Amino acid sequence: MPKTENQAPKRPKQRKSVSALTSKKLYQEADNRCPFCGVADVAVLEIHHIDEDPSINKIENLIVVCGNCHSKITRGEISPADVHAKKMELFWTHRTSPRQAEKSPRQTVSVNAVSVSDSIIANTVTFGRKRSPRMQYPVDAIGADTIKKGYIDYLIKRYFDYRQADASYGSHRSFSHAEIHTTIQRRFKAKTFFIHVSRFEELCDYIKSRVDQSIQGKRNRSRGVLTYDSFEKYEAEQLRHGR
Ligand SMILES: [Zn+2]
Repeated sequence: MPKTENQAPKRPKQRKSVSALTSKKLYQEADNRCPFCGVADVAVLEIHHIDEDPSINKIENLIVVCGNCHSKITRGEISPADVHAKKMELFWTHRTSPRQAEKSPRQTVSVNAVSVSDSIIANTVTFGRKRSPRMQYPVDAIGADTIKKGYIDYLIKRYFDYRQADASYGSHRSFSHAEIHTTIQRRFKAKTFFIHVSRFEELCDYIKSRVDQSIQGKRNRSRGVLTYDSFEKYEAEQLRHGR
């Protein structure tokens, strides 16, 4: 039988619906926000297939985005590399590993508890996890500081862009978006945004050194061209834009 007969002409790839569990995990991973523009309205969030194949519903191939950014992805205004990088960032910054999630599934609060055990049971209110949908980093982690986290995001994005540029110089050195996060975790003994804020400069220096080692980074340095903004400049800009 010729291959084409198996396929409807207008829909060569078959769309399958994403399971409720996968969907829930994706919204948790994204902290119920669009990872590109930050809009937190669940009503406008959609699930995008990263490799554009709607039949592959593995969690690695899916990302939650708002309708507006979804259109930008379709139009190419948000590049596939940006989407991939964002997915990696979500994966590597998500608060809970599946094991941790099992350990603390609920928060129990006793209301008006008295010493009679029946009363305690009667007055115990159990909240599901969705009581606190926002991602919470420990207060002393880099992720808890919006501007510092933003600067690390910025440096990592620079690194991805510069590594991508390497290919245009004919470098075939293999590249993975996850690698820098796994290396950071090995060096700092914590996931990128869970590293203690006292090590912020050390983390910046490490990512900068990785950007500097790229081909374009080396060229910039030899010409005295800046490869990335300083934290001070980044911070001033963020404050000016009222973030
Ligand atoms: Zn968006």
